[in-house]
Amino acid sequence: MVAQLKARGIIASPEVEKAMLKVPRHLFISEDMRPLAYRDAPLAIGEGQTISAPHMVAMMAESLALINGHKVLEIGTGSGYNAAVMAELVGSEGRIITLERHGSLAEKAKRSLHEAGYENVTVVVSDGSIGYALEAPYDRISVTCGAPRVPMPLLDQLQDGGVMVIPVGVLEHQSLLRVVKKGEEVLTEDLGSVVFVPLIGEKGHRPS
Ligand code: SAM
Repeated sequence: MVAQLKARGIIASPEVEKAMLKVPRHLFISEDMRPLAYRDAPLAIGEGQTISAPHMVAMMAESLALINGHKVLEIGTGSGYNAAVMAELVGSEGRIITLERHGSLAEKAKRSLHEAGYENVTVVVSDGSIGYALEAPYDRISVTCGAPRVPMPLLDQLQDGGVMVIPVGVLEHQSLLRVVKKGEEVLTEDLGSVVFVPLIGEKGHRPS
C-alpha cells in the first residue's frame, strides 16, 4: 500500500513514508474489516462514520509538514488512525489533541491508540467546530470532516505561521484547503476535490 502511494506521488517525504509504514491500520478497525485494512479505501467504523482512505491521510500529512515537537489539533478522531500517523510525525515531544463528537467512537479510538502504543494523543469528546481553546494555540490543525466554511474559532486557535488543512464545501463534496495564517493575513490554497463526512456542530453543518 505504501509503495503504491509513493509510486503515485502521494507520499513524497521519507518522514510520511516511515509513519505510514509504522502505524498498524488494522488495529483501528473492527476484526471483520481487517482483511481490507491495507487497501486504499475508506472503511466503516460505526455511527455512520469512516476511517479515511490511506491516500487522504498521507496527503493531509504531507501538506501539514509536521515536525518533531508540533502541537496539533485534529477535528474528527473517528478511528484514531490519522491521529496515530500524526503522532509518529510529531514524536514524543509533540502532542495530538483530537476531538470527536461521538462518545462511542472516542472510546474505541482511545483503546486502539493505547494498544498501538500512542501515549502522546489526547482524545476529547466535544464539538470540534468551535475548536479547543483550552490548549490553543496549535502549530497545526487537521480537520477530517467537511465544513461549510472555515470555522473562525479554528483560525483564532491557529498559531501565527501555523497551517490548517480542512475540507470546505457542500455536504456532497468539498475542496481540500490548505490555510496558512500569517499575522492578519490568511493564505488559502486549493488542494483538490474531496468527499468527507460532514462536520456537524455549532460552526459546522446542522444535524439532519
Ligand atoms: N480521522 C479519522 C480516522 O483517522 O479514522 C476519520 C474521521 S471521519 C472521516 C470524520 C469524523 O469527524 C467522524 O468520526 C465524525 O463523527 C467526526 N465529526 C463530525 N463532526 C464533528 C465535530 N463537530 N466535532 C468532532 N468530531 C466531529
